[in-house]
Amino acid sequence: MRIVALAGGIGGARFLRGLRAAIGPQDEITVIGNTGDDIHLYGLKVCPDLDTVMYTLGGGIHEEQGWGRTDETWSIKAEMKEYGVGPEWFGLGDRDFATHLVRSQMLAAGYSLSQVTEALCVRWQPGVRLLPMSDDRVETHVRITDEQGTRAIHFQEYWVRLHAAVDAEAIIPVGADTAKPAPGVLDAIAEADVILFPPSNPVVSIGTILAVPGIREAVAAAPAPVVGLSPIIGGAPVRGMADKVLAAVGVEATAEAVALDYGADLIDGWLVDTADEAAVAAVEAGGIACRAVPLLMTDVDATAEMARAALALAEQVRR
Ligand code: GDP
Ligand code: CA
Repeated sequence: MRIVALAGGIGGARFLRGLRAAIGPQDEITVIGNTGDDIHLYGLKVCPDLDTVMYTLGGGIHEEQGWGRTDETWSIKAEMKEYGVGPEWFGLGDRDFATHLVRSQMLAAGYSLSQVTEALCVRWQPGVRLLPMSDDRVETHVRITDEQGTRAIHFQEYWVRLHAAVDAEAIIPVGADTAKPAPGVLDAIAEADVILFPPSNPVVSIGTILAVPGIREAVAAAPAPVVGLSPIIGGAPVRGMADKVLAAVGVEATAEAVALDYGADLIDGWLVDTADEAAVAAVEAGGIACRAVPLLMTDVDATAEMARAALALAEQVRR
């Protein structure tokens, strides 16, 4: 079975680890990763979501933190601070720096982001084919209003420096409108047997991937069933501040509102947590098959069970 999953960072990566544990040796997973979180720092290209997927599946992730490398040290950051060079709010550890150096060196030599990602994965052996959504530069910005007035800031500045404490007025995936899907992305979607939306952020992770012209259309037109898992449980994101960016696009932070926002033209099935059993009827009324199952990714076994439930629902909705 050929499985395609769209993925952001932590939520996507943890789900993929369960999915990998749930499938058989003949099954293969292609991951289309969000690159809208990418940021250039110190002249280096940093791809937080691709790296979170790569490190998590490759066994190099800082488990508790959910991002960055295990057993990290921070000498470079401390030295930069001595020069007065920031940003101080973005955590780039010494081991992580090596990844960004390799990536930036290869990009400067003319390789595409897809080629670089493939090269980095030779080391990490994530057990999936990891494709960036696009080789073109896309960077999500967030419009806010504060004492400095109304302006758009980089998503990382909004998320990491401001902790989404200011209201987001609009989410702008800068560059997405002219970006092309990376090589292999549209083919993978068209040839998939199942397409999954992990419990990733619907706006700034899955939404950004779908904003690359051609990708949403390809998912909607794909012969494969499309099944998503709710990142919202009991009216709140399990982790992080997804409610803030949902508000910016006018979507309530509930399991049913997120499903209905994707809509029946995009997804065929949706899993909500057992705490949201009451949402099942509303989702089904929207033309999307819905089941309530435990959706907390407490460990790999529990996550593998979620993946099995998603694959089972995909079989039920297969046309
Ligand atoms: P990010 O790029 O690191 O923010 O990661 P993603 O976009 O892939 O995933 C973030 C989303 O994962 C958040 O909106 C959370 O609601 C969701 N999430 C995190 N842990 C869990 C969990 O255990 N269960 C579910 N259902 N969602 C989760
Ligand atoms: Ca992200």
